[in-house]
Formats: sequence, structure tokens, C-alpha cells
Amino acid sequence: MRVITPTLKTTQVGTKYFDSPGIALLCFPSVDLRGTYEFLEQLNCSDYLNDTPLPAAETVCKFAGQLCYKSFGPKRTYNADAKKYFDSIKSQGHGSVLEHVNYGFLLWGVSRSFTHELVRHRQGCGYSQLSQRYDDKPRFVERPEYVYDHDLHTSFCDRIDNAAQDYDEIAKWLRQKHKGETTLERKEVNQVARSLLPNETEAPIYATFNVRALRHILEMRASQHAETEIRRVAFGLYTIVKEEAPLLFDDYEVSERRTLSTAWRKV
Ligand SMILES: Cc1cc2nc3c(=O)[nH]c(=O)nc-3n(C[C@H](O)[C@H](O)[C@H](O)COP(=O)(O)OP(=O)(O)OC[C@H]3O[C@@H](n4cnc5c(N)ncnc54)[C@H](O)[C@@H]3O)c2cc1C
Repeated sequence: MRVITPTLKTTQVGTKYFDSPGIALLCFPSVDLRGTYEFLEQLNCSDYLNDTPLPAAETVCKFAGQLCYKSFGPKRTYNADAKKYFDSIKSQGHGSVLEHVNYGFLLWGVSRSFTHELVRHRQGCGYSQLSQRYDDKPRFVERPEYVYDHDLHTSFCDRIDNAAQDYDEIAKWLRQKHKGETTLERKEVNQVARSLLPNETEAPIYATFNVRALRHILEMRASQHAETEIRRVAFGLYTIVKEEAPLLFDDYEVSERRTLSTAWRKV
């Protein structure tokens, strides 16, 4: 599974919103070790290429790690024991070998407050986010706490209906004042009108993480101390990458509340 799809919902007056995040894994590693044949042959270790295959992410990280000690010969850790290999990497904090693999995710149905927290993670991460200066059709995100509470849900719907209406009104007024026809003029309208949008405005973002950085994010953001929305996204990221590269993420314990913990934090 590489996609978690949310349902796009509408209030009674037609304001669009999400009540769960969308997560699509778009970029993931592929690897072709055949290019190492001459290198391994010159070390009399070309048998390395006959080992049982592992998922691409694990193959890359294991090869990079084994390069450090030229561990390609018969005394090396074979792929059948790859779990032992990665447990050793993680327990000793040799996390730099996990920086060789990147995953790229489209995240949508997520709020501006979520992305503000996410982008605090800088090391090993890259982001491209929807600009509110180029978007004049804001959608919104309902917090998990509101979804099953009638009063909170109703007040959320009223609030986003009002926000959408206020946004349209001020944008219309600014367009009349400043024409709002060229791209520059539209941008100048949107950049003013967006100032009244709430934190619960949707803010789609494309995010790339290397595995070392992603593990740190999971530990910080899928923890019991993390904020609810980012915790839900972090857990979704975990469910996807755990299938892609089980041995890079198999040390995480999952609680009943879908939080993660590990004995090997911040490898
Ligand atoms: C529950 C929770 C509550 C929070 N509350 C607040 C809050 O109230 N206010 C607030 O401002 N922030 C808050 N944060 C954000 C937090 O302080 C971090 O900014 C955020 O989690 C990013 O993590 P990081 O600093 O580890 O950065 P990352 O970019 O994920 O960095 C990973 C690691 O790289 C190293 N590193 C990164 N950059 C540098 C650097 N410049 N110099 C040296 N080493 C570096 C550090 O070891 C760092 O841990 C909160 C986070 C959580 C999880």
C-alpha cells in the first residue's frame, strides 16, 4: 500500500474540507547492484551478487554499510541475517548508512498548523508547499477531536463557511480595487486575502525524507506527546515505509493508541 486516500467532504453550503490526511508515496528507491560487479570481482567477492534479494532500501543501506569494512566476502553478514545487521547498525547509532535512501510523499488533507510543525524538521528533509498566494480556492481540515463531537463538528463547519465567505468577499473587494487580472495582480489579491485564513486551512505539501531523518520524525511526531494531527500523519508514514523496508523500521513498538516507540532513538 503506497497511498492513503482521504474523502473530500463539503459543508451544507459547499465549503470543501477533509477530516483525515492523504498520504501518497511517490518516490522510493530502486537499486541495481550489477554495476558493482567489476569492483567486487577485483576484491574476489563477486559472489556477493548471488545473495538472496532484499527490498531496494535495505539493499542500498546494507551495501553502503558493508563497504565501510569491505565486508563482501564469505565472512560477511548474509542477507538471511539482514535483521541482525540492521539491529546492530541501529543499536550502535551508525545511522549515517540510512541517509542513502529517500522517500518522497505527497501529503494533502493536512492543515497549515500541521505543515508548520512538519517543516521544523530540516536535516535530511526537503519540502515544496502550496503557496497561498497562488491559490484562491482554500479548502479546510477538520481536527480529529471534532469529527465525532456533534457540537464541535457543527461549529467547525460554521467557522469554515464563514472563513470561505470572508475570504471571497475580501478577495472580490481587492480585485475591484486592484483589477486582479494579471498573475501579479491576482497574487497581490491572494496574499492579502489569505491573512484571514485559519490554521485549519488545508496546506498540501510534497516532502522528501531520508530514512535517518524520517526515523527521527517518527520518534518525535508519532510519540504520545505529539499533537494529534501530526501524530496521525506520522503513523500513516510509518505504515507505508514499514511495508517498503521492514528491517529499517521493525524496532518500533506500536501502542494501542497508534503511537510509536523504540529503544534505539535517533540513530
Ligand atoms: C511534542 C513537541 C512539542 C514541541 N513544541 C515546540 C514549541 O513549543 N516551540 C517550538 O519552537 N518548537 C516546538 N517543537 C519543535 C521542536 O523543538 C523541533 O524544532 C522540531 O521537533 C524539529 O526537530 P529537530 O530540532 O530535532 O530538527 P531536525 O531538523 O529534525 O533535526 C534532526 C537533528 O539534527 C540535529 N540538528 C538539526 N539542526 C541542527 C542545527 N542547526 N545545529 C545542530 N544540530 C542540528 C539535531 O540533533 C536534531 O535533533 C516541538 C516538537 C515536539 C515533537
